[in-house]
Amino acid sequence: MNQGYHPCQDFELLKKLQLQIINPLIFLKKKRTRVSFVSTMNEAIIEMDHVSKTYPSRISALSDINLEVQPGEFTFIAGPSGSGKSTLLRVLCRAERPTSGEVVVYGMHITDPGFKKIYQLRRAMGIVSQDFKLLRDRTVNENVAFALEVTGHPRKEAKRKASDMLSRVGLEEREQDSILALSAGEQQRVAIARALVNSPPLILADEPTGNLDAKMTLDIMGTFTDLHQKGTTIVFATQFTGLVKRYSYRVIRISNGQIFNERKGDMTQVPGGKPEE
Ligand code: ADP
Repeated sequence: MNQGYHPCQDFELLKKLQLQIINPLIFLKKKRTRVSFVSTMNEAIIEMDHVSKTYPSRISALSDINLEVQPGEFTFIAGPSGSGKSTLLRVLCRAERPTSGEVVVYGMHITDPGFKKIYQLRRAMGIVSQDFKLLRDRTVNENVAFALEVTGHPRKEAKRKASDMLSRVGLEEREQDSILALSAGEQQRVAIARALVNSPPLILADEPTGNLDAKMTLDIMGTFTDLHQKGTTIVFATQFTGLVKRYSYRVIRISNGQIFNERKGDMTQVPGGKPEE
């Protein structure tokens, strides 16, 4: 067991990978056309370049999306149900491949057909999906601890850290309960705890407050805000315009798979971020 493991090790690994990838010489050897795109790359953690996704049903879920997310940014992806938010997040964690366009995350070209680093990619992100994907035969604590155990934490330490995280989402009294005994809102909070417990540098959250009441929504938003203030990059999809209006974060509005409006975030709130000149 790797007792000294810290999630930042993944981040360091990814940084190294990024350095390799942005070395134009490597790409000159592989594919000449890549060089101009790569050499203009800035420090963005996420880059989507003319990304479209059409499902076999001929539904166009994303259409020519261009998007960059800088380290430490909090970005809302806002739009009504069916506008393409989940598809966008699924493309970013490579749960889905776009029909066309390119996606670069941490400098890795994740849309390349030969991309093989899905494990490293996923370890560096916390994903809160709409269907929670919880283990139904485990307790609440075990569900969260599991995320740590698979990254090498000893079981005892994993359980203790899971316990701390569950307190942060208000579930300290449900830890030993079966997942099946929890309401949808409580299960959603377990899914959030599991995504955050590894302290990932990037969080992709798909409607994470969708099943929560107003008070719990504010509590959970407080947790996301704390993480953002510590430098975590957050991409947060929601259909709730009231929620988006409460915060001065960046908002990308999508409709019918297209970005139609952007509200710039207050960059002074991004750790290390500067206001625009
Ligand atoms: P949102 O998250 O904003 O509700 P989605 O990304 O889930 O939007 O869906 C965008 C569009 O793509 C919708 O019309 C939806 O019905 C369609 N869609 C999503 N997933 C699939 C799929 N696996 N197969 C076919 N169509 C899909």
